[in-house]
Amino acid sequence: MPRTPFLAGNWKMYKTGAEAVSFIEAAKPLLAGITGREAAVAVPFTAIAEAARAASGTGILIGAQNVHWEREGAYTGEISTGMVKAAGASFVILGHSERRQFFGDTDEWVAKKLQAVLEASLVPVVCVGETLAQRESGDTFRILASQLKGSLAGLNAERAAPLVVAYEPVWAIGTGKTATAVQAQEVHAFLRAELATLLGEKTASATRLLYGGSVKPDNVKSLLSEADIDGALVGGAALKPDSFAQIVKFDS
Ligand code: PEP
Repeated sequence: MPRTPFLAGNWKMYKTGAEAVSFIEAAKPLLAGITGREAAVAVPFTAIAEAARAASGTGILIGAQNVHWEREGAYTGEISTGMVKAAGASFVILGHSERRQFFGDTDEWVAKKLQAVLEASLVPVVCVGETLAQRESGDTFRILASQLKGSLAGLNAERAAPLVVAYEPVWAIGTGKTATAVQAQEVHAFLRAELATLLGEKTASATRLLYGGSVKPDNVKSLLSEADIDGALVGGAALKPDSFAQIVKFDS
């Protein structure tokens, strides 16, 4: 089964609801009639409802950038899967390196969030990636194997169908440094082999693996032409409708 390319923006802590609506209104005509891929944006919690209303009927998926694993409770400042789903989100980014680095998200937390996201019938986008120091010390593959195994702990093949994994080398996020297509492909092939060990060949070959880290309109095509790169997770270049649209239209 071919894997449908998934082109997702991650807006981080940018844009109000009104700004999200303007973005979608501007992106709509640029993406009209585009088929054979999924276009998505993970927006701040406060923009999900307005963005989802504006995106209704356009095919643009709206997602969240994080969730808590509990359904509800005394967790001041947290947001549940039910809340983001009711607001209109259909996917959730989990374990982004900024969450891991600044907010203490661990593989164990990501695994708990993953269960909650699947329970809510949302699509999880689980992020893994090595730091520059880890790459330079030759630890890339060991770190990625451990992050993937820890983040997917408790997942079995029966429930893994919606899973999306994003490889985001930390040294390439927001730095302007992109992994070369060859470097990214090498890691993606490794991650797919690890997925096969964890969840079986069938799940591994069906799971979409995204690359993230300074993806831009001018490098997306070469990245996505690699056999195991099935899409992109894009920060900075997904904040403007025209560059987002160019990324979604990577093959045109
Ligand atoms: C990201 O936020 O996941 C990301 C990859 O950011 P950027 O594209 O800006 O490097």
